[in-house]
Amino acid sequence: MLSLFIKKCAVCKKKAIEPRKYYDDQHKAVLVCVKCVDYAERRAFRKRSA
Ligand SMILES: [Zn+2]
Repeated sequence: MLSLFIKKCAVCKKKAIEPRKYYDDQHKAVLVCVKCVDYAERRAFRKRSA
């Protein structure tokens, strides 16, 4: 579960500022920075509740 410790945005690949937790289209747990949330929603990323 190394990915949980790398706080990089799954969209822009930069250090995620105020990261939101999402699942990507491969059902992988990813972080998305606040700037990329809109893009993530359009790419059918799903929010993680936890
Ligand atoms: Zn981003």
